Amino acid sequence: MSASLPRSNDAATTGQRVVCSFCGTRIDPATVECAAVPSNVRAFKHEIFHMWRCPTCRSLHCLETVDLRRYYTNYPIVRTLTPPARLMFDNLLSRLTMSGYTPQSRLLDYGCGWGTFLEHLRERGYHNAAGYDPYSGAEALRDPACLQGLHALYRRLEPSGREQLL
Ligand SMILES: [Zn+2]
Repeated sequence: MSASLPRSNDAATTGQRVVCSFCGTRIDPATVECAAVPSNVRAFKHEIFHMWRCPTCRSLHCLETVDLRRYYTNYPIVRTLTPPARLMFDNLLSRLTMSGYTPQSRLLDYGCGWGTFLEHLRERGYHNAAGYDPYSGAEALRDPACLQGLHALYRRLEPSGREQLL
């Protein structure tokens, strides 16, 4: 990583993530493709995070491990199906169907917020969708039961602090 990249002074970081969650490749932050990205939430816009691309599988990761509860508890996200939200979700559904998603497909919306995309899917006849968000304001969406059978993936996405769910 370049020494000229801006550093966040206030981000609630707890360490660095240097192993790809998907393929397990360990990286050296000084040698991988990296970019400094500000938070997209106005309240945290002064905080800078460093994204790196896995050289093996090309997935993106945040170098800093952060206290996600701080960022997601009051995350400004759509809570009801307003007309603009429906338009946005129709565009997302269109991209999914072009990729092979059908009403019979199973879908997990991990990090589903208030579950509005799930509600939109059900209205459109896609009933095999489930949602989970450990920071959701809707208690039912914080129920890890929908993750049954996905424990290996979940362990890789949330490597610490969630062992009680496994
Ligand atoms: Zn990888």
